[in-house]
Amino acid sequence: MSAIRLDGKAVAATVHEEVASRVAALAGRGKAVGLATILVGDDPASHVYVRNKRRTAEKLGITSFHHQLAADSTQDEVESLIRRLNTDPAVDGILLQLPLPGDLDGEAAVDTIAPAKDADGLHPRNLGQLVLDRPTLAPCTPSGSIRILEHYGIPTAGAEVVVVGRSFLVGRPLAILLGGKRYNATVTLAHSRTKDLAAVCRRADILVAAIGRAEMITAEYVRPGATVIDVGINRTETGLVGDVAFDEVCEVAGAVTPVPGGVGPMTIAMLMSNTVTAAERSIG
Ligand code: NDP
Repeated sequence: MSAIRLDGKAVAATVHEEVASRVAALAGRGKAVGLATILVGDDPASHVYVRNKRRTAEKLGITSFHHQLAADSTQDEVESLIRRLNTDPAVDGILLQLPLPGDLDGEAAVDTIAPAKDADGLHPRNLGQLVLDRPTLAPCTPSGSIRILEHYGIPTAGAEVVVVGRSFLVGRPLAILLGGKRYNATVTLAHSRTKDLAAVCRRADILVAAIGRAEMITAEYVRPGATVIDVGINRTETGLVGDVAFDEVCEVAGAVTPVPGGVGPMTIAMLMSNTVTAAERSIG
C-alpha cells in the first residue's frame, strides 16, 4: 500500500484565502488587522519561524509589527513590552516566539499576554476555555492538525486517536480538542512513560506524533490503513525530518503528513486565523 500524502501546504492555502477575505471584510468596516511578533535573542530557527509568520501576515493584508529584543533582556523588559502591546489598539494579536533564551520564563511571559490578543492560543485562560469545551483562540499546531483531517474528510467521531507527546504546546491541547464534543474521538495521550508504546499506537485510527525524536515512529507503530499526523520537526545532517519514518510508514498507513509541507504550514495559517478572529471580536 502507498499512503495518501496529506498536503499541509495546500490546506494552508485554503485557510489563507479565508483569512485574506476576512481581513478585507474588516478593512471595509474601517478596521485594519495587526499582528505583533516578539523575538528575544538570536536563535536562527526562531528567526526563520518569525520571518515566515511576518511574511505570511503581510501577504494576507495583516500588518506586522516586529519587536526584536536582545538575548540578555530581562523578564521585566519582555513583560513590559507585552503589556504595552496589550493596550495598543493597532495590535490584534501578539505572538511571543518560544522558547525564550537563557533563564527567561516563557510561560510567565505568555501569562502577561491579554487573552483576547493571544494569537498562539497558549494563555491559561484560553487553554482553560478549551478544557471547558468552549469556543476559544485554540493553539495553532493542534487546530492546524485537525484542519488537515477535516479538509481530507477523515472522520474523528468515534475514531481511536493516539497522541504521542503531552506538551502544553501540542499534544495535550490536541488530545483535549479531539476528545471534546466537536470532534468526539476516543483519545489516548501517550508519553515517555507509556508502556509498550508501539502496541498502544497500533490501536489508533489516527496516530499523532508530537515527540521531537527523528523518525521514531516506524511501521511497527502503525495499524494498516491508519492516518498518521507528523508534528515533529527535527534538524538532522540530512535536513528536516519528522517524528515519523515517512517512507516505511507510507507502506502501511492510509494517509500521512510529510515533513516539511505537512503540519508546519498549518501552524502559521492558524496563527493568521486566530489573529483575524481576535480582530473581529475586538469590533464586535
Ligand atoms: P516537548 O519536548 O515539549 O514534548 C515532547 C513530548 O514527547 C513529551 O510529552 C515527552 O514525554 C514525549 N516523548 C519524548 N520522548 C518520548 C519517547 N521516547 N516515547 C514517547 N514519548 C516521548 O516537544 P513539543 O511538543 O514542543 O514538540 C514536539 C515536536 O513537534 C518537536 O519536534 C517540535 O519541533 C515539533 N513542533 C512542530 C510544530 C509545527 O508547527 N509543526 C510546532 C510545535 C512543535 P514526557 O512528557 O514524558 O517527557
